[in-house]
Amino acid sequence: MPAANPASPFYQTLSRLLPERGMTLAQLCPDGDPVAQRVLHDYGAMFVGAESILPPPVCVFTSEQDVSQFQEAARWASATIGEATVELQPAAMAALLRARATASKEGLDITPRDGAEAARRGYADTVRLWNSRFLPALEHWLNKGRLTMDQVDRLRTLPIHSQVSEVLELEKDGIFFSKDLSKSVLYSIAAPGSSQHIAMLAFDVNEFFNPRVREIMTAEGWFQTVLSDLPHFTFLGLVESRLPEHGLKAVEANGQTFWIPDIG
Ligand SMILES: [Zn+2]
Repeated sequence: MPAANPASPFYQTLSRLLPERGMTLAQLCPDGDPVAQRVLHDYGAMFVGAESILPPPVCVFTSEQDVSQFQEAARWASATIGEATVELQPAAMAALLRARATASKEGLDITPRDGAEAARRGYADTVRLWNSRFLPALEHWLNKGRLTMDQVDRLRTLPIHSQVSEVLELEKDGIFFSKDLSKSVLYSIAAPGSSQHIAMLAFDVNEFFNPRVREIMTAEGWFQTVLSDLPHFTFLGLVESRLPEHGLKAVEANGQTFWIPDIG
């Protein structure tokens, strides 16, 4: 994992923007917390978005109560799309509805993947998703003889934040926890309490494969910001040409452009 480089464009941007929000980097992401730092590097784009959005006060929430408090402060707007009612921060929702209107004029559609879960999620949702990867992977590596029963029992009973840091350690030895067990769990789901969906700034799009749909989303301030999570768009509320000034860099993967924190 790359160390935090204070001279990098992303950290430079944070040190400019966080004080404007009355925050410090140490509050957002405590020094020496590898999970928080990994989360900041992998999903951190939302912390350098426009003033019209409210990013979370911490990289990793640790309780439902803290999430509720944040979500109430940020507020959200709802829309029903097909069968699903989705919820996003007001600026994010307004931009999504504009993108849908543009798409519709061109005979295209932009719809939520997996229903309501495509947008706002609570803390418990992220814990449930974590367990949906963590528990089967424990079973798998136990059967493969890479973990002992004692290790598995211990990992199961750890507090969730410690589970995440121990999983990241195991992954360094190739004991992976993603759904297909071939890559880091964080490429499969967010660490509990850390999702951009908790921030109500993410929307998973069924039609992500269509380049014109991606273009329409981008024109409304919605970008792919999490490498290898293809359907996942993040509302930054910025024009694309300004993203480098906000400490993000463009990376091509799977023929698509991702704007990720430039931490180099
Ligand atoms: Zn997503």
